[in-house]
Amino acid sequence: MNLARQIEQYLPQQLLELVKDISGQAAKRGQRVYLVGGVVRDLLLGYPNFDLDLVVEGDAVKLAQQVAETSQAKLLAHHRFGTAKLRYENFTLDLATARKETYARPGALPAVTPGTLKNDLVRRDFSINAMAISLGANDYGELVDPYHGKSDLGYHLIRILHARSFSDDATRILRAVRYEQRLGFELETQTAQLLKRDIPMLDTISGDRIRHELELILKGKRPEFVIKRLAELGALPRISPFLNGDGWIAEKFDRARRLKKPNQLPSLYFCLLIYSFSERGIEQFLARLNISAKLSRAMRDTLRLKTRLPLLDKSSLKPSEIYYLLREYEPVAIQANAIASDEKEGTPSLIVHHHLQLFLTKLRYVRTSLNGEELKKLGISAGPEMGKVLQVLHKAKLDGEVSTKADEKKLALSLKALDFHTDPEPPLE
Ligand code: ATP
Repeated sequence: MNLARQIEQYLPQQLLELVKDISGQAAKRGQRVYLVGGVVRDLLLGYPNFDLDLVVEGDAVKLAQQVAETSQAKLLAHHRFGTAKLRYENFTLDLATARKETYARPGALPAVTPGTLKNDLVRRDFSINAMAISLGANDYGELVDPYHGKSDLGYHLIRILHARSFSDDATRILRAVRYEQRLGFELETQTAQLLKRDIPMLDTISGDRIRHELELILKGKRPEFVIKRLAELGALPRISPFLNGDGWIAEKFDRARRLKKPNQLPSLYFCLLIYSFSERGIEQFLARLNISAKLSRAMRDTLRLKTRLPLLDKSSLKPSEIYYLLREYEPVAIQANAIASDEKEGTPSLIVHHHLQLFLTKLRYVRTSLNGEELKKLGISAGPEMGKVLQVLHKAKLDGEVSTKADEKKLALSLKALDFHTDPEPPLE
């Protein structure tokens, strides 16, 4: 099957010219270049995807170096892996030397040697991702589809390439379900059986690789569908016995999406995922997935704050009291609690929810109008005295006791008249 016409229509003109130029340069070096993986799948499905992966039969790094020298591209080369990234103003292209992989033991990273396109396709996860399109002058546009990926696209099937696939690399269990849900496909019958059989093999995968796949899931449009399906298949408890994919998660993820920008969602989803965890559960989860220090802090804060929510369940709380209760927590942890506590009845109450929202939308942004320079001009010396004055001004501003700069000046001068710096205790600690 020849897809030359489809490529011409699918790729933006600039990208098409780049790809042809690379292929021309490769031909002069006696190398062959192919489009592979996601872009071939998405081209056949008619979905836009301009993250191009090119496989080179021959040295991809040398080819990329040559292309970079004759164009505006920035080159990022990984000699050890035989891969290179070419970064242009509007696009990046990934070039990889066609490789052959062998697995010494399940879950280990494979031993890699240079190989042919066929070797490169057989190491891939699913038939729909194991297709290539030739960019050579003689057979430009020819589809290479040894595992009948095009047919599986037509039948909406996710199919592994051989029976050891999931045990060689159990991250494919997570990938299979991600594609299944994203594309609205089904696991092919034998693939589904092998997936269930090999779920224990998830234990052989490093935390970094599991986390990476979980991040890819959480970057998707409706991650709750993937989470729910992983729970149904029995894969979710293998990652952590405390994870669950029930309706609560679906409802909270949906709410998170209505509140946050896409790039802020994955860390919020992580905090919601562990909302019902025990302290022991979360520590196990953080260690298993080797979660970064920053995200770990946010996730621990989520549970710490959850236990302290009753303190916020008083309608008489002043804004400054809410501020001092919440300022030590990561905003994403507060947001997770606000979403989780958005319930019509039961605890946490609507008052708690309102206080969390007030902090997130208003209180955390409140600043005094007077700055240090201006306070100096009023005769307040830099150091502890000024720190205390600023604290009192900030508290007054939070509670609406001052609103204008003039109000703040008046208050600052009255504090100075009280010889504020002799106060041994900080007023608000
Ligand atoms: P998307 O996730 O948007 O579909 P993609 O298909 O390009 O993008 P990537 O995760 O970027 O997916 O991987 C690129 C290609 O590498 C895949 O199409 C697949 O063929 C292959 N691949 C990735 N991970 C694995 C894996 N664990 N085992 C085998 N092949 C893999």
